[in-house]
Formats: sequence, structure tokens, C-alpha cells
Amino acid sequence: MKYFTISLLNSPLNPLTYCYENELSEGVLVEVTLRNRTLMGVVLEVCDAPDFKTTSVTQTLLQQYSQKQMKAAKFISSYYFCSLGEALQLFTPYGVNREMENGEWKMGDGEPLAQGNGKWEIENGSELLAQKKGEEGRVKGKECGDSTLILSSKQTEALAFLQEHPVSLLFGDTGSGKTEIYMKWFEEVLAQGKRVLFLMPEISLTPQMEIRLKEHFGEAVVMWHSKVTKPTKKKLLEKIHSGEAKIIAGARSALFLPVDDLGLIVVDEEHDDSYKASSRPRYHARDMAIYMGKLYDVPVLLGSATPSLNSYVKYPHFRLKGGHFSATRHFSFEKSRDAITERVESSIVATVAKEEQAMLFIPTRANYKYLICESCGHTHECPYCSVAMSLHRKSNAIKCHYCNFSERVPKACSKCQHEMLVSERLGTAEAVYQFGERHPDIRVGQFDRDAVSTQNKLKKLLKAFNNREIDLLIGTQMLSKGHDYHDVTLAVILGLDNQLNMGDYRAREKALSLLIQIAGRSGRKKEAKVLVQSYNQAFFEPYIGQYEKFLEDEKQFRKGLYPPYTKLARIMFAHKYANKAEEAMQEMVEKLRLQTDIEIVGYGVSQIEKIASKYRYQILLRASKTTDLLKAIKQSKNTLAEVDIDPVEFS
Ligand SMILES: [Zn+2]
Ligand SMILES: [Zn+2]
Repeated sequence: MKYFTISLLNSPLNPLTYCYENELSEGVLVEVTLRNRTLMGVVLEVCDAPDFKTTSVTQTLLQQYSQKQMKAAKFISSYYFCSLGEALQLFTPYGVNREMENGEWKMGDGEPLAQGNGKWEIENGSELLAQKKGEEGRVKGKECGDSTLILSSKQTEALAFLQEHPVSLLFGDTGSGKTEIYMKWFEEVLAQGKRVLFLMPEISLTPQMEIRLKEHFGEAVVMWHSKVTKPTKKKLLEKIHSGEAKIIAGARSALFLPVDDLGLIVVDEEHDDSYKASSRPRYHARDMAIYMGKLYDVPVLLGSATPSLNSYVKYPHFRLKGGHFSATRHFSFEKSRDAITERVESSIVATVAKEEQAMLFIPTRANYKYLICESCGHTHECPYCSVAMSLHRKSNAIKCHYCNFSERVPKACSKCQHEMLVSERLGTAEAVYQFGERHPDIRVGQFDRDAVSTQNKLKKLLKAFNNREIDLLIGTQMLSKGHDYHDVTLAVILGLDNQLNMGDYRAREKALSLLIQIAGRSGRKKEAKVLVQSYNQAFFEPYIGQYEKFLEDEKQFRKGLYPPYTKLARIMFAHKYANKAEEAMQEMVEKLRLQTDIEIVGYGVSQIEKIASKYRYQILLRASKTTDLLKAIKQSKNTLAEVDIDPVEFS
């Protein structure tokens, strides 16, 4: 009998010891039992016979994580503070197709489930691909041989610059032709018989991008994101395994697909916070892409019109200015907050009257964010979370956007029984409703998570807007995510001050980037107006058209205090009893005080005190070196502590 340490997939437990009659190599996927439950595990290494009784691996499966995947998973586990099993769960192993459903593993149809005698022939997943590559590794002429991509001299210069660096940043304005540069580089990678990983924020993986890529690269393109159905995922995985898929475009999870003949990783819209996972493993896909670039020895290209200060400071960049179209944008400011003022309304009406299109950005979805008692000022909060319930007129309900709890709109104040409740902070649904009431001739589209819940709805809405079946598109942040709108000549931006006033060291960066990203969706062909509601014109105006000036100023603001000049970690404690969470936090604070080279920036109740019936406390830590930060946390951490390294969210 032989003994192995095995990590259980998706389990927070440390690796356990199991026995098996045959040799098992590192990375092999196996089935094991734990307290009568069948679980999937990954073999780590051979170990000595332990002095306790072990159970045997029940079967070995035809899948294996490559050595590089194992290495990356170990890195995620130690840097982002999760178990190795949780980190491995992110990856798709090499070999047979698999899906996981309700904690149960399902294997691909008709595939042999296990190998009877246990001995593995495949040392490493890459060999599988190496064989395949010989057969069909070359890209067919029609797919990319005859290049029709012609870059401008500036674009050519950009590409040459970017190709000189292992990690580089393409700092290019909206419409300046970043995608052509990416695609030109893709062509070169494919010509070398290698593959490309092209990461985008989930919502930017639009049909428009798919069409654009497929028109040029044909069937070599696969699009991988959370809305892809299971049968399609299976097909896509087959194309990836066979080597037919050459350009793997996807959201952050695409980073963990079984592709090892990589030639390039591109992270588009690299500033986007959706690259940071908000649950364990709390990895940042852009940072992981850079890690993988080193691991696979391939270049990593970051792209953005509003790069993060982080990337701007760390990596060499090429500045690509201006759009393809020489259209200009005229900015104006209105001292108002979250309201459809007369000026906003008349600007939209005038635009539509000229048979042009308008966009209206509002940071809040639903009808209103708050329902407040006119008499005592009581705000209707979720009973399970310490956040205001949003008013959804359509379903006559108030809903919690944190835990999804919903109830009928109350008729009176729950505190003083007063019957006049007022709503505050306008949301997208309300703006759609108001325009519908007052201007039935204006065709309005709603672009937020409530209205665009599926890929199909997204496709339909974008199509309708680009076919000019919609005059006015009203939406949240989703509006700003890399979509191409051709004929927008008015962009109205409400509620930017809410973003700017957030308790977040990146509040300025986020607010300005949002303004520029949304404005950048207008004026692609014709001159456009951008109307911004803000009391902070003095902050925003000097940076419009000069994002690099902002980045330079922001450097001074952050030096010595915030990333990228320091490292931050947020440690969270949540428990249904407030005192339990607080005690755990206190205990860790005491231990952290004994550590050197780190600073406890603050600790106490979180900004949102309670979510889903759990009370929340947190510690914010700072250090100048990553190693000091990780070491201090490792030595002080208790079981309730949930660690978020390089946090982007502080509430
Ligand atoms: Zn009241
Ligand atoms: Zn709630």
C-alpha cells in the first residue's frame, strides 16, 4: 500500500492522507470519501505511512492538473489565504471534460470514469497537447494567413514597443484602436503555432467582440464566461483540449483553463474591479495574469483608456491618443445631484429631436435607493443587513441588494407609523419610468442588472440600440464596459459625487475613470456633448482628456500611504453574534501588535455593520513589503479571519 497527501477540491480543509494500491503522480484527480461523503481530491505527494488508519482512494479519474497549474494554485493558496483545494477548484484540469454540480462531480457523457489499474501514462498534461498539436497545430490559411489588418504608423509603433517588454501597458483612449493592435499580435502568436488568452471583464464579452474576433480568426476563437451553458462549455473545452481553439477570450475564469502552449496573455480594461474576486479565493485576475505570464514565460499586455495607477506605476506603457474619428466632446457641468433636472431633460429631448441618440448614466438601479419617513427620518433597512432597501416600483417591493430579501412596499413608517414615506436617490428604473410618462415618443432602453440578466438580453438590447430602435439608453456602470455605440451624441452622467465621496483610497481614480469611460462611449462618429452632474467640477475638469496628468498627481497623494507604494490587507470577521466577531478581531489585533514591519491602519465595525444576519468587523493592515504582510497575517490569523489581500472593496 502507498500513502499520499490529497487536497480536497473546494474544501477549506488542509490536505489529508489517503492510501492506494498503486503509484499516483502529483496533480491526478481522484475520488475519495470523508465521513461517508464522496469528494474529489488532487494528489499532492507520496508520504510515509501515518500512525492512524487511512481509507483508500476509491478511484482515479482521467484528469490531471499540470505542474504549472499546481504551482499557480499553490501560489494562490499562500498569497490569497485559501486552502489549496479551494485554489485548485478554480482550475480546469487536463483530460476528460468535467462539470461540477451541487457539489457532485459529473463526468462527460460516455467517457470512461476511471482507469482500472490506476497507473498513469501521462506525466504531464502538456504531452497530451503536444501530440495533438502535430496533427492540427497549424492554423489554416483562410483563418489568419491573409492578413487584412492594417495598422497605422502609430499603432505599429505601439506594437513594437509593447513586444519589447515582458509586461506592458497599452494606455489608449477609447476608439484609438487598441483592439487592432491586440489582433495584430494575435496573428503573430498564431503564426508561431501558439495560443492567446484574451481576458475581458465579464460584461465586455459581448456579441460585438465575438463577431469582430470571429470575422478575423474564424473558428479558432472561443468565448468563455459564466453565462455560457454547460453543453456549450463542454464543446468549448473539447476545442481547447484538441488545440482547435487558438484564441481563448474570456472573463477571469478563462485564466485557469488547460492551455499551456501560450504565446500571449492580454488583459483588456485592466483597471476594471471585476477582475478581483469578491469571495474566496479572493484573487485579482490581472495580477494572476502577470504571475502566469512569468510562469509560462509569455508576454502579458494590459490595456485601458484609464489605466489603474498600479499598472501605470509598475509597467512600461505606450500612450495612444485620440480616436479614429476626429470627433470632439464638449463637457459641461451642472451643480446638482442624482436628478433629472430641466437641463438634463431638455438636452435629451433636443438630441432625440435631431434623430440622434443619448445615454444617461445613473449609479443606482431600481427606482430609488432609499425609502425615508418624512416625519422621523427613519430609513427602511433590510432586517438582515444594515443597508437601505431599494424601491422597485414594478414589483411593488422593496429589495435588499446585498442579501436579496424583498418585501411589499410599506404603507407607513415601521418606527412612528407616519404615512408619508419619501423616496430618495434616483435609480435607473425610475428614470426609465419618468421618461416613459413624460415623453412617450422617446424610445427608452434600460441597461442594468435587473433588465439585462442574460447574455441574450444583452445581445438584443445592444442590437436594438445600434439599429436605432432605442433613442435613450439609461443604465448603471454596465454602460461603461467596453461596448461600442456608434451614434451617441449626448452622454449624461449623474451621481458621480457619490463615487467620489466614498471611503476608499481609490475613490478619485474610480470616479474620474468612470466619467472618462462613459464619456468615451459618445462621440464615436459625430461631435458629442457630455453633461456631468457634480459639485466637484474643479476636481474633474482639469483631468478631462488628460488622464495621465491625474495619474501623476495621484502618485503624490498615495506615496508612502497607499498602493502601489504600500501593500494593504483587509481582514474580515463575520458572525451572527456581534461579540463573537468582535472578540475574534480583538484577538487578532493583539497578535498583530506583536508583529514588526506592519501597521494596523484601523480596526472596528465595518462600514456595513451587518450583511445576511452576520455582524461584521474588520482590520486594515499596511506594510511596505508583501512578505512582511503575509508573514504577520499567517502568524496572527484565527479561524474566523477572512483575509483579503490587495482589497478593492472596503465597506
Ligand atoms: Zn417615522
Ligand atoms: Zn439584506
